[in-house]
Amino acid sequence: MDLIKCDRCESGFRPSSEQVNFILSSKEKGMTFIMLECGNCGMSFPFNPSSTALFDEEPQEIPIRTPIPGSHGYVSFVDDEDEKFYGCGETGAIWRNKENLSRDIEAIINKYPHRKKCYLKTGSGWIANSNEPSNMDELIDQEEVEELRRFKRD
Ligand SMILES: [Zn+2]
Repeated sequence: MDLIKCDRCESGFRPSSEQVNFILSSKEKGMTFIMLECGNCGMSFPFNPSSTALFDEEPQEIPIRTPIPGSHGYVSFVDDEDEKFYGCGETGAIWRNKENLSRDIEAIINKYPHRKKCYLKTGSGWIANSNEPSNMDELIDQEEVEELRRFKRD
């Protein structure tokens, strides 16, 4: 369940089911301003139900960590009219298809076992682990940075 951040005490709280219903029905009506009571400090604060992606039916897809040693980047799926590929904006790496991306994910897990905690294997391939350890960036800093000579990873 998503947390809402309170403007007053700056902490996140779990909304009650009444609050979730209130937010969703206000969003449906296109309202941009409601008052919510914080579950931590009890103060009321203004909230814009229409700008929030919270509680949307579609789960937000979490981006996958770029499977290149030393990279803190993420892979996005680029779906242009005539081109579809996976790319990393940080390293410039491009994977033509999911198989090539999976191959690099498996290779980096073999090389750096901590990378296993970045990815989850599902029936339809690798996805990002939403429960990644918080020190992952430090672990990646310990990897030997791979300078790409070829950006196309196929
Ligand atoms: Zn509060």
